[in-house]
Amino acid sequence: MEKPIIGITPDYSYEKTRFKISQDYTQSILEAGGIPVLLFPNSTFPSFVDGILFSGGGDIDPLRFGEEPIRENGAISPIRDAYELALCRQALEIDFPIFGICRGMQIMNIAAGGSIYQDISVQTGSSLKHNQQAPRSYATHSIQIVPHSLLDRIWQQPSIAVNSLHHQAVSRLAEGFAAAACSTDGLTEAIWQEEKEFVLGVQWHPESMHTKEQTALFRHFIEAAERHRQKRRNFTCRHPQNKR
Ligand code: MN
Repeated sequence: MEKPIIGITPDYSYEKTRFKISQDYTQSILEAGGIPVLLFPNSTFPSFVDGILFSGGGDIDPLRFGEEPIRENGAISPIRDAYELALCRQALEIDFPIFGICRGMQIMNIAAGGSIYQDISVQTGSSLKHNQQAPRSYATHSIQIVPHSLLDRIWQQPSIAVNSLHHQAVSRLAEGFAAAACSTDGLTEAIWQEEKEFVLGVQWHPESMHTKEQTALFRHFIEAAERHRQKRRNFTCRHPQNKR
């Protein structure tokens, strides 16, 4: 049986001139029934994939959202910023299944015209610990799920605890997006687009948690990618060359 192909954007190390991706992402896609492939910076839209996962990583160049960098902004990756922002804009223009994790959620928001806090504690004064000092899989703070959001539809529960490995967060939400979850300090922990098949960004790292709720996010993503693949296949079947 054919499976949906999921393109993952890898991280890039300038020091080692190497791309890299955590196995947590590829394993989560595999276990949810998809085939993970890596997407390298390229100007052509990868129409051979059925969904795109924007992975986590370092900070985004603040000039990309119209701000000068503050001291607390960390290492940036111009190669990733350029590729992922362009790719995300293209994917949002069409109804393409996309899942953004941590930096990936911030990329989605910036690609659509929103902005982020360069550093939560400096710019919001929040004292909630978003950079946990605990095993990566361990949930350290709770989030409230926005009623009727995609997360509410998937989980059908008002709150949950998640891991937290970030010092930046969505500030101005981009047009077309809505919040799907918030932490108790009022920060946006998940975003989504209602009219799309599956456009979801989460600030935590579901790929490292291995719980049934987090696994369900990948399953819904892969199901949306499968529907996209079917549409693509039907389109091919209607092509004159395939008529009997
Ligand atoms: Mn957090």
